[in-house]
Amino acid sequence: MNLAELARDFQTEDECIDYFEKMRWPSGVECLACESKRISHITTHGKTKKARRVLQCLECGKQFSATCNTIFHDSHIPLRKWFLAIQLLSQAKKGMSSCQISRTIGVSYKTAWHMTHRIREAMDAALGNYKLQGTVEIDETYLGGKPRKDLRTGNHVVRPKIPVIGMVERKGVMRFQKMAKARSKDIKILVTESVSRTAQVMTDESVLYDSGIPLFLKHKHKTINHSARQYVDGYIHTNTVEGAFGLLKRGIVGSYHRLSYKHLQRYLNEFEFRWNNRKEKAIFEHILIRAAKSNPLPYALLTAPETEGDKNEVPF
Ligand SMILES: [Zn+2]
Repeated sequence: MNLAELARDFQTEDECIDYFEKMRWPSGVECLACESKRISHITTHGKTKKARRVLQCLECGKQFSATCNTIFHDSHIPLRKWFLAIQLLSQAKKGMSSCQISRTIGVSYKTAWHMTHRIREAMDAALGNYKLQGTVEIDETYLGGKPRKDLRTGNHVVRPKIPVIGMVERKGVMRFQKMAKARSKDIKILVTESVSRTAQVMTDESVLYDSGIPLFLKHKHKTINHSARQYVDGYIHTNTVEGAFGLLKRGIVGSYHRLSYKHLQRYLNEFEFRWNNRKEKAIFEHILIRAAKSNPLPYALLTAPETEGDKNEVPF
């Protein structure tokens, strides 16, 4: 679905709710409390006299809406605007800032910021427990760390760089993971969790991968020596993962400018999701189905006091 089709097919809120209901319950609405399929559709009028569509279970009496317990839970924003935001964020190759989304769909910046984080939540964990197969390139990059002027003291402060590990199947799917520190033992845990035992891994000659690659992958581990300007040695290279990092960095520079350590993984998930679904035609539908299964991510939780490690920003 493209933006024009979206605007054509979803002109009213009712059309959006009908569609979302079908995506959420493909074989008919099910009660959230007792799973009964005996449901009646009713319309209520609240204090504002605005019509509100409610589903009522005929077994246990529970009333709920189609968006209950999804990323749209309790949102005062019409589904129509949510659909547009999902479409914009899923199609923009380098991401789209909350500022741009707020202007494009006509909501406040704060609302757009909250919406996009909820949409990223629905993009998260699309791979589930899948382990990367075949030839898998692994590399690390560092975000941020550029000196910035402290406006109070006038001194230049260098913030720590945040390491991000990328793992990419050639012609396949990709995974980004932020790390507190780039350490072999942490990389080893991550690779063990994410890469299949039958895969062949390729890295550069960084010491990180001497002990960062688990034993079960060691015998097929190939390295490329970048310092000797040897970038492509036949099939041994890390060009795919470097391409993915390039896209990520251009996205952060162009769309997001600065990210906090706390929220960084959600942005990484967004880039990962778009990469992994780059050939998927029904990406919008894909996100809607995930949206129905994702946690609402309340604003209070999103803006909860940050821990010490969360204070690092990633400025560019
Ligand atoms: Zn029920």
